[in-house]
Amino acid sequence: MSSPSQPVAAAATSSPPERSPGLLVYACGVGTTALVVLLVQALNHAEFNAMGLYANGILPVGAILVGVLSGTGYAVGSRVLNVKLSRGYVMGMLATGVADWFALQYFEYASLIEQYHYAPTALGFVDYLTQTATSMSFSRAGSSSPGAALGGAGYFFKALELAGFALGTMVPSWTLFAMPYCRRCRLYLKVDQTSFVKSELSHADAMKLDRFGMKKPARTAALGQAQGEVQERAAEVLARIQHAPLSEVRAVLSGLDAGGATKVKPAAQVSFQLKKCPRCESHHVVATLVSVAKNGQPANAVVFKLDKTQGFSEPPAVATSAA
Ligand SMILES: [Zn+2]
Repeated sequence: MSSPSQPVAAAATSSPPERSPGLLVYACGVGTTALVVLLVQALNHAEFNAMGLYANGILPVGAILVGVLSGTGYAVGSRVLNVKLSRGYVMGMLATGVADWFALQYFEYASLIEQYHYAPTALGFVDYLTQTATSMSFSRAGSSSPGAALGGAGYFFKALELAGFALGTMVPSWTLFAMPYCRRCRLYLKVDQTSFVKSELSHADAMKLDRFGMKKPARTAALGQAQGEVQERAAEVLARIQHAPLSEVRAVLSGLDAGGATKVKPAAQVSFQLKKCPRCESHHVVATLVSVAKNGQPANAVVFKLDKTQGFSEPPAVATSAA
């Protein structure tokens, strides 16, 4: 009797064991969170409320930064252990972030109880949260005098702080999503080589055009032409490597400017970064346009991303001779 689960089992044995975001990654995350809790507490004792820093009186930058720091462990753990985090896992971190924020508040509460020898019955944790929210006040940077208590509006700012912290914890792992990954070998891809196509026009010559004009029509036209020129050549490169095997992709990219040959900075260039799986031929190419706007500000854009890591099936072991 044939079992329908057989092909699945066969595929599973042919690839390395599944690395799911297990206890180790979680432990890394908990580790950095614990360190951050200690740091925030130490700062609090030095009369510096890191979580309460707001930019423009509305953006909870302090809470976001503390969140980012505490979420670094998940990302570093995943990267080092070559674990591809699922979207669900990162969304789950949002819940962990909320729990961590309450834990931070609780530690603060506990140290306060200890410091002033309160009986826990005299001030409950919920009372403490309510009081810290409604008695919250803003003081200007550099000024030591606190402003008026916010009252009910304090809840809004506490909620902002919580949201900032929880979203912040997701940021490091979120950046890992953008990193190409070989699902078959369960490894992150590594940089193999980087090469360039550069415009004829140099950056210095472009900046000489319309130096004193306001609208700079000649410079705009020259930059547009330089960008068009390198983008056209990037499209040719894409056409040659799109369906090619790794060896050919390498050959095509090696035929381009390897960079560093000349010190002249071009007005526009496209860089091609090839990353490959350390174990197999899965690879990924990102082409980025690096140029300037007419005011001299950098203007970068992704020209294309070529992902040849998905759907990489095992080569057939035996050529089929059926039919
Ligand atoms: Zn691979």
